[in-house]
Amino acid sequence: MQNKALARAVLHANSWLVELDERSVASVVDITTLKERLGGPLRDAGTDPAQVIDELVNDTKDGHLGCAGGRFFAWVIGGGLESALAADWLVSAWDQNAALSACGPAVSVVEEVAGEWLKELLDLPREASFGFTTGCQLAHFTSLAAARHALLRDLDWNVEERGLFQAPSLSVITNQQKHDSVDRAVRYLGMGSQSIIRAETTSEGQITTKGLESALSQAEGRAIVVLNAADLNVGACDQFSELIPIAHDAGAWVHIDGAFGLFARASRTKKHFLNGVEAADSWATDGHKWLNVPFDCGIAIVRDKEAHQAAMTISASYISASSKARDQIDWSPEWSRRARGVPVYAALKELGKSGVEQLVDRCCDFCTQLVSRIGDLPNAQIVSYPALNQGLLRFTKRGASDAENDDYTNEVIGKINATGEAFFSGTNWQGLRAMRVSVVNWRTSQEDVDRTVSAVKSILT
Ligand SMILES: *Cc1c(COP(=O)(O)O)cnc(C)c1O
Repeated sequence: MQNKALARAVLHANSWLVELDERSVASVVDITTLKERLGGPLRDAGTDPAQVIDELVNDTKDGHLGCAGGRFFAWVIGGGLESALAADWLVSAWDQNAALSACGPAVSVVEEVAGEWLKELLDLPREASFGFTTGCQLAHFTSLAAARHALLRDLDWNVEERGLFQAPSLSVITNQQKHDSVDRAVRYLGMGSQSIIRAETTSEGQITTKGLESALSQAEGRAIVVLNAADLNVGACDQFSELIPIAHDAGAWVHIDGAFGLFARASRTKKHFLNGVEAADSWATDGHKWLNVPFDCGIAIVRDKEAHQAAMTISASYISASSKARDQIDWSPEWSRRARGVPVYAALKELGKSGVEQLVDRCCDFCTQLVSRIGDLPNAQIVSYPALNQGLLRFTKRGASDAENDDYTNEVIGKINATGEAFFSGTNWQGLRAMRVSVVNWRTSQEDVDRTVSAVKSILT
């Protein structure tokens, strides 16, 4: 029997995607209206499945952001490649519980291959283990759990059995521009945000050698050093070749926050920013950002397989381990889970190595164009010229104070977003308000860039 709801969803999804260029990038309906449309008491009687889908589309109409399209430059969001989106739908239709190979033999192999391909693409140690998570947040959690295991194992403390009460201390050293997901991972792991030492960092967003050395000497017990493979404001990468050997000499575990930036390894002209990153002990990245698979998908990659598995695995009598099959439950924090590695497999197959390289290069080029062309407009100032795909702009009026220009920058962002032509978000950088320009979507085209510059020009002139 045909699934009519699914057929309706295909129609709605296709028209959503086709109409992205004509629709406002910003949501144009307020939350109260959405609540009125969608809310009310749960009815006693059910609804026809296809009608549920039609109503869902109607009731959420105009309340979505156009982040699947090419003129969305806020946060670091990414879109969905055609095959990745379609593969994601199949994952739901197949509905395998991808915790165990026994519950989903084929998807377990697809995820295994996707992980191997990723290590090759990102040029990370081929013998490293990996796990697919919901995002980089949980990839940090997974990697730092492995770090915690390994550092305490060296001190004869089995953290999985004995926990952290009375355990030897651990410290976490980060860049001052760390992402807050690192704090949350540290909190979830029972180490507490007070165990974080923020190392001295340059105004360009890189930890200094002295800063790392001094943080290592302040650290209580063994340290986990978290370095940035592109921070989200300016895309700064730490100097891995210098810093990682220093951290290792001090017995530290080095973890990399490479949510989007690790993918620059796929570009011959950009990968030098990440020289030496392969010497780290663990890496966290996202499928749903620069690789353009739909939400949600992150990846944890860990050099010390044994520590990774010890931190994540369970053993239960009804689980039959087979030496040939890979059980994802050994490598990620979830139990029941969707096979979120399948869209990664599709995306990598659709693009190939050269396609990922072109995607990365294109996004970096468009980011540079947006920052320099908008930066040339009246009242616009370039705060950070992009090295990769992240740049910063600020809007200032002659004679105005910093605080007034902070307000003016917010006002300009609001006005651009209100045109529906493009969408940006703001940030604080070195104490001042700035507009972020983040380009990670496979759909962004030269036309999108031109259209965005015109929209900003119409606001500023
Ligand atoms: C987005 C991001 C994260 C968090 O990733 P999620 O996928 O949202 O969990 C961490 N670090 C950086 C640099 C990011 O850009």
